[in-house]
Amino acid sequence: MRCWLDSCPKVNRLAYLLLRYEMNVVLLGPPGSGKGTQAELMHERLGFVHYSTGDVFRDHIKRKTPVGYEVKEYVTSGRLVPDSVVIEVVNAFIAEHVGKPIVYDGFPRTIPQAEGFGRVLDGHGLKVDAVVLIDLADDEVIRRLTARRQCRKCKKIYNLTFRPSRKEGICDECGGELYQREDDKEETIRRRLDVYREQTEPLIKFYEDKFKLERIAGELGRDKVFEELKRILETGKE
Ligand code: AMP
Repeated sequence: MRCWLDSCPKVNRLAYLLLRYEMNVVLLGPPGSGKGTQAELMHERLGFVHYSTGDVFRDHIKRKTPVGYEVKEYVTSGRLVPDSVVIEVVNAFIAEHVGKPIVYDGFPRTIPQAEGFGRVLDGHGLKVDAVVLIDLADDEVIRRLTARRQCRKCKKIYNLTFRPSRKEGICDECGGELYQREDDKEETIRRRLDVYREQTEPLIKFYEDKFKLERIAGELGRDKVFEELKRILETGKE
């Protein structure tokens, strides 16, 4: 029988052998710490499904769906979408993707979300397999996010300072337009950082008490962080 991973050309065979199909990995960290970039690498190189609640909400807003109308004000102002809306969206996603290796980027963000997540996974006979915190100091977050640009079409992330596209304003992968997210303006970044410290940081202790939470310094940069991440995932399977 063919595994769904066989249809993903970029997956390397080692990753294929290493992965437990139902693995659920949570990436925690402040905005701009590189969660999205690392989750994308986990998708490209290890075959994980990359689930970003932020991307899901931006997509709803773009498509002007009822959920989009409901969350727009929160997303553009940098405040958190109510837990009930988030859990509903995530529930539907998990029901559809159950059994695949999934990396959660930007979810959970509050204790009630983490508790709800645990219950949903439990209902499918699953659990959180690894929680990795990618930490970054506030000054560096602001420096990175004000220079961040994202492709409107394929969502690939660039940085004007250390990861620019070859042609200004154009995505290297798909030719889509690069734009600055509304919530990547400095004032909104500061609000997102406050929200992170108040509502999301308590999750560090929540997960530390439950499992072994692993920490990686975001300052290490994309490639070294990914090396660390792979080491953690491989050790976790021993
Ligand atoms: P992100 O792309 O992860 O930085 O998310 C962008 C925005 O989407 C956040 O500032 C929130 O407004 C909203 N959002 C994304 N994920 C969540 C979540 N798990 N809980 C609440 N709001 C979220």
